Amino acid sequence: MLEAHESGDRLPMPACDNVECDKFVSANGDLKRCSCCESVYYCSADCQRLDWRRGHRKTCAAIRSHSLENPDFLTSRDRSFLRTIVHKIYKTQALNIFLVQLGVMKESLILPTECVTILKYTGANFDITSSPANPELYLHNSAIPVGPMWQDQLSRALASNHRIHLHVIVFPRAQEQMLAKIVPVRRPNAAVWDGLHALVQEMPEGKEPHKGRREWSAGPEIVAKVEALIRATIAKDEVY
Ligand SMILES: [Zn+2]
Ligand SMILES: [Zn+2]
Repeated sequence: MLEAHESGDRLPMPACDNVECDKFVSANGDLKRCSCCESVYYCSADCQRLDWRRGHRKTCAAIRSHSLENPDFLTSRDRSFLRTIVHKIYKTQALNIFLVQLGVMKESLILPTECVTILKYTGANFDITSSPANPELYLHNSAIPVGPMWQDQLSRALASNHRIHLHVIVFPRAQEQMLAKIVPVRRPNAAVWDGLHALVQEMPEGKEPHKGRREWSAGPEIVAKVEALIRATIAKDEVY
């Protein structure tokens, strides 16, 4: 964080959790929290009402009881911090991340909004994987903290017109346990997901299916197109 401040990077801004709302607020801004689950944030009472109707009403009470049993759930500041980490990772790893995402979209025939990216720190190593976000699909990654908060964020991503991209960041903690946190990243528009979706259609089929999956690797042509997509989208967005 300090490094980001000193290098003059702008930090990612928290967004209102109503997916219809375009408001990003300043890092110490005035988002108001849902007083029941204390896990989602809105710029106004109107936005809270709209998100409640869209689907938060189905998960709010469950998130509340889950967070009482699991004391390490996130504050708004924690969320901003994790978004900053994801933002920094994209600065150097965007090509790898997008190629991994394309692979899972192609292999499991899912739309970009149905895909979650897992950024896992395991001591010295850093591992990027991607998987369908729906816990019922067989490729679902066991690192994903499925629970009411996951359902809440997934329903929001699916309703976001391709702007919210789900990430899970995984850290080692004491006694070989892992701590996994959901980080929904909201982009200002759908350009990234729409660009990746268009590329999936262009990609050649993978090799013969292996254990029911088609192993897939990107040729130089796809790599060049992904690089162009990065230049046209996230390389420009200092803040998302
Ligand atoms: Zn709530
Ligand atoms: Zn709002």
